Amino acid sequence: MSTFQAPKGTYDLTPPRSATFLAVREAIAAPLRDSGYGYIETPGFENVELFARGVGESTDIVTKEMYTLTTKGGDQLALRPEGTASVLRAALEANLHKAGNLPVKLWYSGSYYRYERPQAGRYRHFSQVGAEAIGTEDPVLDAELIILADQAYRSLGLRQFRILLNSLGDKECRPVYREALQTFLRDLDLDEETRRRIEINPLRVLDDKRADVQKQLTDAPKLRDYLCDACKAYHEEVRALLTTAGVAFEDDEKLVRGLDYYTRTTFEFVHDGLGAQSAVGGGGRYDGLSEMIGGPELPSVGWALGVDRTVLALEAEGIELDLPYTTSVYAVPLGEEARRVLFGVVTELRRAGIAADFAFGGRGLKGAMKSANRSGARYTLVAGERDLAEGVVQLKDMESGEQGPVELAEVAAELTKRLG
Ligand code: ATP
Ligand code: MG
Repeated sequence: MSTFQAPKGTYDLTPPRSATFLAVREAIAAPLRDSGYGYIETPGFENVELFARGVGESTDIVTKEMYTLTTKGGDQLALRPEGTASVLRAALEANLHKAGNLPVKLWYSGSYYRYERPQAGRYRHFSQVGAEAIGTEDPVLDAELIILADQAYRSLGLRQFRILLNSLGDKECRPVYREALQTFLRDLDLDEETRRRIEINPLRVLDDKRADVQKQLTDAPKLRDYLCDACKAYHEEVRALLTTAGVAFEDDEKLVRGLDYYTRTTFEFVHDGLGAQSAVGGGGRYDGLSEMIGGPELPSVGWALGVDRTVLALEAEGIELDLPYTTSVYAVPLGEEARRVLFGVVTELRRAGIAADFAFGGRGLKGAMKSANRSGARYTLVAGERDLAEGVVQLKDMESGEQGPVELAEVAAELTKRLG
């Protein structure tokens, strides 16, 4: 029988690299937790209709990338391709917006699924940490989220990333622009699919990666020239807040999210060491989304950062996170009696909050000491017949090499003292 492999477009997280993933998730979550965002967890699948409405019928995500399934009971479900629609659905369902404390600030972390062509940095199963601030329209909130993402990346040591920023206008000025853009696009030499896109989702055409399309877009009407005064003022305020916070950004006219419920602030974090899959995270305002999925008017803003690409960005910059060894004490028993006694000591240490591991399987001293070294433990405990007869174990400091007997009853107290 052949052995199984991870499905196409997926990969497993195994030690030691998996520790970096955990650390990245934690680094992204920490600034959110410290800024009033509460943790939310939603199911890995939802009714397909939620994404059709909440991500958009005309997006690649919904038309090409979604994993859909029909349950035995006949329900149409989809594995979640992104987090925002689910989080907003859950917040509405729990009436969080009625608790009288807006914005509702939430963060999440989890797996997402898209049926994509697998490439470096593009997978069918990937991991995001995201944040949403629901129910308030305030440029300070948009700025807060961008600043917190910047802080997260910086705390990881990342430097070669850039923030691209744009405003998409609102329900007053965007439709006027949309029409002007459509009129311009209809006169271009474009393929059938792109022509269809002009009618459903014209802003997305600006995002086309092909050079021959981009060449024709040079004189396309610019959204900037169509922004209403309120949108202009809002955007200037976000820009000023970022500048005051010392967060550098680049204005990017071409940055779009082509759906009607995405409004005003939109941004993307790109990393220059990642090649084609350069976006490590993105987000923006979605003032119309709540109404799209049957809720009240709740202007909101959020982002999602890709954990996989963030890890690739760390590797591209040659950053090794300073991850402390997880084991502090490693116990090496010599003989049956010592196994029982030392395992008791290890259990006692663990209950006292000291990370301890054990040489399992009755190996000899040499092999066991190798494992002790590999574990990174600062201390080893070694005990044989003679030590036990004297009621002691040998405590060795792996850094200094110093070694000496410690009374069995004193081991936990001694190690607690030494490990501070
Ligand atoms: P792209 O333009 O690269 O397809 P996107 O606009 O589809 O990205 P978003 O939906 O904004 O991406 O998701 C936010 C982040 O999640 C991205 O910036 C990226 O880091 C990550 N991400 C999205 N799709 C994938 C994927 N298939 N594999 C790995 N990470 C992904
Ligand atoms: Mg995509």
